[in-house]
Amino acid sequence: MPRPSPSGGPDQIRWRLADDDGGQSDLFGEAERVAGRGELAGLELLHVRAQRVINRVPEASGLPFNWTINPYRGCSHACVYCFARPTHEYLGFGIGEDFDRRIVIKINAVERLRAELRSVRWRGEAIAMGTNTDPYQPVEGRYRLTQGIIETLAAANNPFSILTKSTLIGRDTDLLVEATRRNDMVHAALSIGTLDEDVWRLTEPHTPHPLRRMETVARLNEAGVPCGVMIAPVLPGISDAPEQIEAVVRAAIEAGATSITPIMLHLRKGVRDHYLGWLEQARPELAPAMRASSGP
Ligand code: SF4
Repeated sequence: MPRPSPSGGPDQIRWRLADDDGGQSDLFGEAERVAGRGELAGLELLHVRAQRVINRVPEASGLPFNWTINPYRGCSHACVYCFARPTHEYLGFGIGEDFDRRIVIKINAVERLRAELRSVRWRGEAIAMGTNTDPYQPVEGRYRLTQGIIETLAAANNPFSILTKSTLIGRDTDLLVEATRRNDMVHAALSIGTLDEDVWRLTEPHTPHPLRRMETVARLNEAGVPCGVMIAPVLPGISDAPEQIEAVVRAAIEAGATSITPIMLHLRKGVRDHYLGWLEQARPELAPAMRASSGP
C-alpha cells in the first residue's frame, strides 16, 4: 500500500551514483514509498525506475570485474560491518538504520537489462552481482528482480557471477544450472564469515544461519553450479581465531566449494565510525585497538 511522503507527494531521489555505478550523477526521479508487510514488515520500500542497470566499475577501484548490476540499494541483512553503507548517503539517507530499513527497489531493472543487452555498444563482458548490497536479501523473495536478471543474462548467454549471504539463491538453482550449461564463466559464491553462532547473531543479525548457507554451497555444487565460499569479512578479535577460520575452511571443503577466499575487515570512511560505535557497545574491550589501527 503506497504511503505518502512527508511532503504529501512522491519523493525525488537524487542518486549520486556510487563507485560501482561509474561515478556519474543520475536522477531516478519519483520514488513511490511502500510500507513493507508480512516478512518485509518494518521496511520502507522505495520503488524507483533506474535509467540504466549495467554499471561500469571505475578502473581505479582495482576490482576484478568491470561491470555490475545491483537491483536493490540498502540491505536489510544489516551486517554491522557492511562496506556498502556509505552508498545510502548518496541518496541523502543515513548509513545506519536507514541502510538497514529503507530499501531502494529498481523496479524496472529487468526491462532495462533487456534493452541494455540489445545495445550495439554492449560487448557481452562478465557482470558481477552482489558487489554493493545483497541481490538475495529478503525483498528479492517478493520482487524477484535478481531472478529476472539471471533469466535474462542466461538467455543472452552473458557471463555473470553472484555473491550473496542468503540461502534464497537456492530458489534459483534450476536457472543457475541452465546458465552454467550455456556459459562456463557463470559462477556463484556464498559469503560465510564465520560458523560461530554467537558471532553470527552479534554481527549479521538478519542473515540466514551460516550452516544453512554452507548447505546451500553444497547443494549448488551438487547441482552443477560452481560455488565458492568467501570468508568475509574476518573480524579482528571476533572471528579471526585460527580455530574459527579453520572451521569455515573445513566445512567449505566438505561442501565442495570451488574456491575459498578470506577477506579481512576493511573500514572505509563512514563505515569506520559506524563500526566503532557498534564495537564500543558490543565488545568495548576491542574498541581502543581497533580505533588505533583503523586510522585517525
Ligand atoms: S549482506 Fe552484504 S550488502 Fe547486505 S548488509 Fe551484509 S555485507 Fe552489507
